[in-house]
Amino acid sequence: MPKFIHLKTSVPGPRSLALLERRKNQIPLGIFNSSPVFVDRAEGALVYDVDGNTFIDFAGGIGTMNVGHCNPAVVEAAGAQLRKLTHSCFSVAMYESYLTLAEKLNQITPGNFPKKTMFANSGAEGVENAVKIARHFTKRPGVVAFEHAFHGRTLLTMTMTSKVKPYKFGFGPFAPEVYRLPYPYEYRCNVDQMTDSLEDFFNSHAAAENVACVVFELVVGEGGFVVAPPKYVKKLESICKKHGILLVIDEVQTGFGRTGKMFACEHYGLQPDLIVMAKSLAGGLPLSAVTGRSEVMDSPQIGGVGGTYTGNPVSCAAALAAVEFMEREQLPKRALEIGETVKEKFVQFALKHPFIGEVRGLGAMMAMEFVKDRQTKEPDKERTNEIIRKCYENGLLVLAAGTYGNVLRTLMPLVITEAQLAEGLEVIEYALQ
Ligand code: PLP
Repeated sequence: MPKFIHLKTSVPGPRSLALLERRKNQIPLGIFNSSPVFVDRAEGALVYDVDGNTFIDFAGGIGTMNVGHCNPAVVEAAGAQLRKLTHSCFSVAMYESYLTLAEKLNQITPGNFPKKTMFANSGAEGVENAVKIARHFTKRPGVVAFEHAFHGRTLLTMTMTSKVKPYKFGFGPFAPEVYRLPYPYEYRCNVDQMTDSLEDFFNSHAAAENVACVVFELVVGEGGFVVAPPKYVKKLESICKKHGILLVIDEVQTGFGRTGKMFACEHYGLQPDLIVMAKSLAGGLPLSAVTGRSEVMDSPQIGGVGGTYTGNPVSCAAALAAVEFMEREQLPKRALEIGETVKEKFVQFALKHPFIGEVRGLGAMMAMEFVKDRQTKEPDKERTNEIIRKCYENGLLVLAAGTYGNVLRTLMPLVITEAQLAEGLEVIEYALQ
């Protein structure tokens, strides 16, 4: 008898179905929904739908809810801020929460050098700003992105994103001066060869002296939770240093405890020039940040970066509460424990099911890659979708990922209890069966 999952109706229930019908007529098809569920409310790692069904959440609003749904500290801070000052625009009249949060991020992000922080609204906007700043500082146009990368849906970040369908198909022409390197995907590539030949790229594809920045995910998020091997990252870092190319680490999905450290960079001893953050930063409110070397961040002229809503006071207040909560509750440590439990289960599943090609991840960013055959490694997207469907029909929200759509990934709130985690994993086990 499940403790947390209570399904009063089949999923989707009648109220979700009625709303789906309205959605069909009013909201464009191009907006993807991974489940047909309409949510009423959520708390911690549980989501309650409009039909009175309770789900365990392994999706966390796509990795946004590390501190848990409706985290009381976040709700309290955001509520208090809402009643005091909703918006003045930092460029019109400044407020302290923007400054305090900048101080906090300058302090907790990796890098033993003076740093500055600016805010934007979404992950994509954060990445766009990092590229603008890098170009301005280096006076170079080139941007190097990777296969399997996801950096957003704006014109520049869509260009930097790798997966063609659905993210790029029909949306060209793309932004110029974006070059692409293969990602060190150990399951599918020869990483040693890739590491050895890395420098060649700057002869054969893009002249190093024309490249402003390399933008890299240490664990590709949307691309399928592929973890970059340390030796590759070391080489990349040294090539960037040698050629004056800025290293921008996109921590939008990996940040704020998810990988078992506050930032994935810490696993690699990496001190990037710029770090982009979003998602779990503000406990569910829209906010992104670019933090980096002061001299780099100070490069753009006054008015060259910013925006009407960027660093909104409510989001900043929520973020301060969220980051304090992560520190107080040692969420990175909890992510390691969660990751261990999930990994152990996934490895057991892989012993039983030959369609699980690989189990991988870092901290609580764990994943299974599904293949039609372990020899050929042919991706099995259909089976992946079927498993995701079986999961939500049985009370677990979980997401697919990967360029081939054949990865199941876990992004549960890090406040999930042991019992909730165990029950969610039972649903996955049942779905695999
Ligand atoms: N960068 C990474 C690594 C992401 O995972 C995402 C979103 O999933 C983005 C950037 C874009 O963030 P947003 O959807 O907030 O624009």
